[in-house]
Amino acid sequence: MSQSVLASATGVAAQAGRRRTFAVISHPDAGKSTMTEALALHARVIGQAGAVHGKGDRKGVVSDWMAMEQQRGISVTSAALQFSYRDAVINLLDTPGHADFSEDTYRVLTAVDSAVMLLDAAKGLEPQTLKLFEVCRQRSIPVITFINKWDRPGLDPLALMDEIEQRIGLRPTPLTWPVGPAGQFHGVIDRRTGTFIRMQRSPGGADLAIEEEMSADEAKTLFGTDWDTSVEELDLLALTGADHDQAGFLAATTTPVLFGAAVANLGVRQLLDVLLEMAPPPAARPTDTGAEQPVDANFSGFVFKIQANMNRAHRDQVAFVRINSGRFERGMIVTHGGSGRPFTTKYAQQMFGQDRDTIDEAFPGDVVGLVNATALAIGDTLYVGKAVRYPQLPSFPPEHFAVVRTTDTSAFKRFRRGIEQLDAEGVVQVLRSDQRGDQSPVLAAVGPMQFEVATFRLESEFGVKVHVDHLPYETTARTDAAGREILRGEAGVEVMTRVRDDTLLALFPNKWRMRSIAGRHPELNLDA
Ligand code: GDP
Repeated sequence: MSQSVLASATGVAAQAGRRRTFAVISHPDAGKSTMTEALALHARVIGQAGAVHGKGDRKGVVSDWMAMEQQRGISVTSAALQFSYRDAVINLLDTPGHADFSEDTYRVLTAVDSAVMLLDAAKGLEPQTLKLFEVCRQRSIPVITFINKWDRPGLDPLALMDEIEQRIGLRPTPLTWPVGPAGQFHGVIDRRTGTFIRMQRSPGGADLAIEEEMSADEAKTLFGTDWDTSVEELDLLALTGADHDQAGFLAATTTPVLFGAAVANLGVRQLLDVLLEMAPPPAARPTDTGAEQPVDANFSGFVFKIQANMNRAHRDQVAFVRINSGRFERGMIVTHGGSGRPFTTKYAQQMFGQDRDTIDEAFPGDVVGLVNATALAIGDTLYVGKAVRYPQLPSFPPEHFAVVRTTDTSAFKRFRRGIEQLDAEGVVQVLRSDQRGDQSPVLAAVGPMQFEVATFRLESEFGVKVHVDHLPYETTARTDAAGREILRGEAGVEVMTRVRDDTLLALFPNKWRMRSIAGRHPELNLDA
């Protein structure tokens, strides 16, 4: 191996080591958008200088990009914000925030190395929190927990720790502990060093918090019983052995906990420091042969998201690639794992929300947006040199089904193009039903709000008004041609073809009906 190749391989490993790629996940309203802004305030934004600083418009960083998102105040798309903090490069991946737990969030979680889970101090664990924790556990994603909104009245901190332990089975290991109950936040004690950091919101609040290290004596004088309560709680914590356990954190069995208030930037610096010090950098990734691809191997990455029309000024389709190994250079020719064909990466960009910038090079952990990459599909691997393939992204069984039609026959072509686009992006799955014909595709979704997004986009981007009729099915299973014949005789059951991969899906009103039919037809091939 030549000297220069060796040198660049070392460079890649060092660059990977500087990266922290994570997502902030939470139940809606816990403060994800606020936290994104609060994190970026500390950072030098690399990709989107205009996105955070300089606009003077607080909405600048918020990743809501579609009119619908703005109307509803929700974020339904994902992209990545890159910034530097100390000597690290942070990639913050945005996840959809709406109440529907869509496949999109799962896919984004395949592209991160850790996650920050925000809890609302007053609400504790909420339904979405529980689901997200579960996904992180299944994927062994290390989770840092940030108890947000400590500036507002809320739950008792020890009770919150109990709740995390009891309801999600992750052992909380607080790194900081609040002085003052929720609603009277004076600062935190760093449990590792024992120092007290007084925190105050900056005048106006939209800036970094004012922090001051203070001795225990001074703090006791100032905060009296609030200080004593904290010290007692810390003694209790010490007794239960809730100390940080790096191996447990990396194995996703324990979760470091921090307290703060994103809205006033309280505790946010501590979160960034913990991300740098404890969260894992990109590491060797398993490929579908079971072997691992080291970060300093040739370039490789996978498409975890496809999205169209991010910006009304650019009506195009972007494939987001998470780099797993090697150095990416704009213009390099890579192999597209799906087709084996060469793929030119001339139009590589970084983007977050409305903003996009050309990117010239990138390293493991980074996210690159490839513009007009219509050949790429979700889950595809791109690589240079020896073939690699990353495992298929998890697909979730849809539980909601609807027939979609347009009454405007002149718009049928646009309707079809729109449906194809939404399918390519994974906004919904598209099913073909022989019984209903070409003009009435069936949309399948994990959460019903995906239908709303689909309807809105068909209308706003393709100019097609559609009717959506919900179908009374809740459960699906894959089947085969023989299965289709058997199921023809069963009332209330339909078999359709998933357009994306020609899979035959049997749709049942509920899982009991599916089981009862399966019980009567032992020869029936059903794969739920
Ligand atoms: P998201 O839905 O998770 O993205 O939540 P947002 O960031 O939009 O926040 C929801 C609401 O909570 C907004 O009104 C925020 O101003 C508010 N909020 C977020 N963080 C804090 C916090 O630390 N303290 C207080 N008091 N309010 C907060």
